[in-house]
Amino acid sequence: MKQTKPVLNIIKVYGNPESRDAYIIRDFLKRSVVKFEWVPILTLDAFTAIFPEVIIETAQLPAVELPDGTFIFDPTVAEIACKLGWVTQPKHKEYDISIFGGGPAGLSAAVYAASEGLSTVMVEREAIGGQAGTSSLIENYLGFPEGISGNDLAERARQQAVKFGVDILLIRKSIKAEFIDRKLHVDFNDGNKIIAKANISATGVEYSRLDIADEDKYINMGVFYGAGASEALLCADQHVFIVGGGNSAGQAALNFCKYAKKVTMIIRGDDLASSLSYYLLTRIKKNDKVEVLFNSRITHLSGEHFLENITVHNSLTQSSVVYDTKFVFVCIGGKPNTIWAQNTPIVRDEAGYLVTGGDLYLPPFDQQWDKGFTPAFLETSVPVCFAAGDVRHNSVKRVASAVGEGAMAVTFVHRYLHENY
Ligand SMILES: Cc1cc2nc3c(=O)[nH]c(=O)nc-3n(C[C@H](O)[C@H](O)[C@H](O)COP(=O)(O)OP(=O)(O)OC[C@H]3O[C@@H](n4cnc5c(N)ncnc54)[C@H](O)[C@@H]3O)c2cc1C
Repeated sequence: MKQTKPVLNIIKVYGNPESRDAYIIRDFLKRSVVKFEWVPILTLDAFTAIFPEVIIETAQLPAVELPDGTFIFDPTVAEIACKLGWVTQPKHKEYDISIFGGGPAGLSAAVYAASEGLSTVMVEREAIGGQAGTSSLIENYLGFPEGISGNDLAERARQQAVKFGVDILLIRKSIKAEFIDRKLHVDFNDGNKIIAKANISATGVEYSRLDIADEDKYINMGVFYGAGASEALLCADQHVFIVGGGNSAGQAALNFCKYAKKVTMIIRGDDLASSLSYYLLTRIKKNDKVEVLFNSRITHLSGEHFLENITVHNSLTQSSVVYDTKFVFVCIGGKPNTIWAQNTPIVRDEAGYLVTGGDLYLPPFDQQWDKGFTPAFLETSVPVCFAAGDVRHNSVKRVASAVGEGAMAVTFVHRYLHENY
């Protein structure tokens, strides 16, 4: 809706502080490094009282006031991106290389590919930055002794990619991908199509969630996914909770013990031995700071803005206890974003990760492809379709390794293009 207001410089987001949709908008804008003002407003009546010129029938919360003074109501992030002019059309029909995923691996591949003169398109279904973009402070990435926030790192990489001429297609979903004559043909949900001579899949991992009410509200506001290595120092003298009983949870528990007052592991089962490596199990048992709550799960999160306490339910005793805490780390594994590969000849492991290089010759994967070529390291079972970063079977799951693999995959693409075109 057009407003006759003076031009604003900053986006404003109005909504109920407890609204999930408002959180998604704030999260998207924050991850996209867009300056915005968050204006908590409890009801639509309160909103229309401030903006009487708004047509009440069309108004809804959350509302986003764009820099030109227009409002969009209850928008999706795709609508916001469109309004901000970020959703652009592909510049070419055919590219040397297409990269799927705009996390550290995809961004690195894009920067290296374009800087070496390849016509490059990078497709990201959400916001640039991937998982790293959700990290408040990455402290172990080379060259940033004070650490760097994930979205800052991603924004710098995006600028670098743009500088080298990468065509970035945001908020895009591919609905069909086919390999025809060694070229990737992709159809997008908006009707656009692209063809690429080589492809790098850097679609990463999505951490499994707790699946409880208000979870989104506390993401990175007390609820963190993964082992949270960069968060450990911030937990000095705190009571930290870790959900999960696998090795990543065990390692996280031992790491947090160095700083936290107490670490409580919450596991659904009734023992740790079945899920945890022996060496971790013995260390955890010996460590007075670690407590394990068996047969337990978190049923409720609360806190005004940041997490303040959690309710843990025990399925054996059927009792619930409320604990004060500002830190819950969810280490219940993750799922690779590879649904798109389901109907392609790309070999995936049991969990869905893309199998590459030498691993394709190991059982059971050796039985799952035709071996008509010798895949390079990082190359999948489909020629010239590479995988980089967390999405790859047996990958390291670190920003630095994702960045390294993205760059390395480009070298293999270069070799292929040099030999074949
Ligand atoms: C909270 C948190 C903190 C972390 N802290 C650290 C740390 O301190 N140090 C460290 O080294 N590592 C850290 N990690 C791990 C690190 O972020 C990951 O290892 C790294 O982001 C992996 O990069 P990636 O590019 O392979 O995948 P991702 O970061 O997962 O990025 C994949 C991208 O692909 C996009 N995508 C998925 N499917 C599609 C599709 N079909 N089409 C287009 N795009 C798609 C996703 O939206 C996403 O943007 C942390 C992770 C989390 C979650």
